[in-house]
Amino acid sequence: MVARPSPDPRETTVNDHRKLGRELRLFGTDPLIGAGLPYWLPDGAAVRHALEEYVREAERRAGYRHVYSPVLGKRELYEISGHWEHYSEDMFPPMDLGTEQVVLRPSLCPHHAVIFRSQGRSYRELPLRMAELGPMFRAELSGVLGGLTRVRSIQLNDAHVFCRLDQVADEVRGALGMIRDAYRALGIGAARYRLSLPGEGGKYVKDPELWRRANALLVEVLEESGIRYERADGEAAFYGPKIDVQVVDSAGREATLSTVQVDFHQPARFDLSYIGADGRRHRPVMVHRAVIGSVERAVAHLIETHGGAFPTWLAPVQLLVLPLSDAQLPDAEALVSRALALGLRAELAAPDQGTLGARVRAGRLVPYRAVLGPAESATGRLSLRPRTGEHLPAEPAEDALRRILADRP
Ligand SMILES: [Zn+2]
Repeated sequence: MVARPSPDPRETTVNDHRKLGRELRLFGTDPLIGAGLPYWLPDGAAVRHALEEYVREAERRAGYRHVYSPVLGKRELYEISGHWEHYSEDMFPPMDLGTEQVVLRPSLCPHHAVIFRSQGRSYRELPLRMAELGPMFRAELSGVLGGLTRVRSIQLNDAHVFCRLDQVADEVRGALGMIRDAYRALGIGAARYRLSLPGEGGKYVKDPELWRRANALLVEVLEESGIRYERADGEAAFYGPKIDVQVVDSAGREATLSTVQVDFHQPARFDLSYIGADGRRHRPVMVHRAVIGSVERAVAHLIETHGGAFPTWLAPVQLLVLPLSDAQLPDAEALVSRALALGLRAELAAPDQGTLGARVRAGRLVPYRAVLGPAESATGRLSLRPRTGEHLPAEPAEDALRRILADRP
């Protein structure tokens, strides 16, 4: 799949993810590393890790198998896929290696097509769902870079379903269901669904009959699902039409986050086949789909939507432990250790970091706080304070920790 560029995010707004990302120490950039090449600080990396784990688990439950493939490949690979012809202006220039040239990959699709054909395939294996969270690269001009929304190295949540033509509609439906579930878990909303069709110009692979069939399949699924959508000419991938799920950032700019695409083109270019029940060779269809698309764009959108107050399961720190005084410090440290061992992200805000009020204010975005005073130390019971303001009744510390663990989709 090919992620699309978006409008230039220049002006700052209240929840601008670049401003919040800096203030909350989620990510950064350095001219020495280069524009459009952000690094992730521990708190940002924790959010990204939770998000990637959510996606992998959702894919595993939906029958996807994960692979890893290299971040670059020989120029010939992208010539066969059609990227070289249709997409080269967005690709990094090739690197000469002796007698061959290698290129940072502009998408994961060609690698997955090659993995599909690396062994004989039977109709019994279809639909074969292959997923990867991996980097791809886009040669953005430096003048349009900023934050996490226009980057040169993109961590893509990609998958390709190799299937029969009569399985495509179900796979598209399934992918739209995963997208809906993910948005609910992430607390984000789609601005609109867009059916992206080819426009004028030489960017698109020419085969009117294949385009018509792919298009009809997407319309069929959208119509029967009752999803309201708009058609957009000129937004298709070069190899096929797609359903794009659009989100809007804090400044009102729209971008594609998720996408489902039907592709008859690359299976032909890579001469993919499987043996049917009739014992003959057949060509599979490729459904490309991304639940959260680019991880960078998804996290930017999460930062802006939640203003840094992430849902508990995504939060960089889920529990902040605040001892009232140094007397409770050993118990507070033990509580943090216990929380970490259970799989929570927990931190200590010790008395040397300021008054209780100052420590509470500094940790206001953390989903749960636990204040440890003499009573808590003596009884081993905790009264969790969610960031929403209420006080939960005192309960054994273990129960309190498990309550936080359970606060997830
Ligand atoms: Zn793809």
